[in-house]
Amino acid sequence: MSPLPYEVSVREVGPRDGLQAEAPVSVGERVALIEALSGTGLHTIEAVSFVSEKAVPSMAGAADVMAKIQRNPDVGYVALVPNLRGAQAALEADVDGLTVTVSASETYSQKNTNRSIAESMTSVEEICDFVDEKLPIDVVVSCAFGSPYEGNITAEELGSLVRNIWDTGATAVTLADTTGMATPRRIDDVIDETGNDVGLHLHETRGTALVNAYAGLQRGIVRFDTSVGGLGGSPFAAGASGNLATEDLIHLLDDIGVATGVDLAALLDIDTTLAAMIGHPVASRIAAAGPRSRLADSP
Ligand code: ZN
Repeated sequence: MSPLPYEVSVREVGPRDGLQAEAPVSVGERVALIEALSGTGLHTIEAVSFVSEKAVPSMAGAADVMAKIQRNPDVGYVALVPNLRGAQAALEADVDGLTVTVSASETYSQKNTNRSIAESMTSVEEICDFVDEKLPIDVVVSCAFGSPYEGNITAEELGSLVRNIWDTGATAVTLADTTGMATPRRIDDVIDETGNDVGLHLHETRGTALVNAYAGLQRGIVRFDTSVGGLGGSPFAAGASGNLATEDLIHLLDDIGVATGVDLAALLDIDTTLAAMIGHPVASRIAAAGPRSRLADSP
């Protein structure tokens, strides 16, 4: 076991991955959330996605959101794009980076995007060619640790997909546990195949997100995706299936001495407004219970 990394970077995905799963909120509220997150020390925020407004009404108005945010020069504002047209729109909106999704599961890919894995890979190549190294492109692999249809995705299969993704010209690869099927053992097996130059995007579906993050840290992973409040997943089952909460990861990292530059208190300040905005309590355990330092520091 190697020592834990000194520092990791956290990409905030709440305004996109998180809010996408909620009933639509106004452009003004999305702008306010992104601006609030911009003041917490986070360096990368997935702010919008340039997808069909009909298919994903909660993400409508992406260009409008990008135009309205008061940008913090220390923050990169990135957009999810499904295809070349989305990438063109994102560049016009002056985003700082792109995320593109490829599924490790053939059936999930067909059902969610109407495309095969091979077709998605072609789309990634087109986007990389079009962007021509002007912006970073992070390919996020959904169902990386298992599929609701095919079950296990073997570490070898995933390793070969990740090698193909690097060949497209992507600047980063992130493994997403879309189905909450990762465990520390699976994280280990997968990193044996992919190497540790990948990000982890973990979900709380089976309560394993933090232990998986810790397993990743032990293998030298230094990039994590998280969502403020744990936004994402089913709005009808708060806490059950969302993204790993930014507060929960930062709280753990603060305590074990892994630097992130993110101010936990500033994040927790956002949660009250956030709960009012989405109309239900946020899923983050630290938002609910408060950080342990609050108790440890009291006389
Ligand atoms: Zn997610």
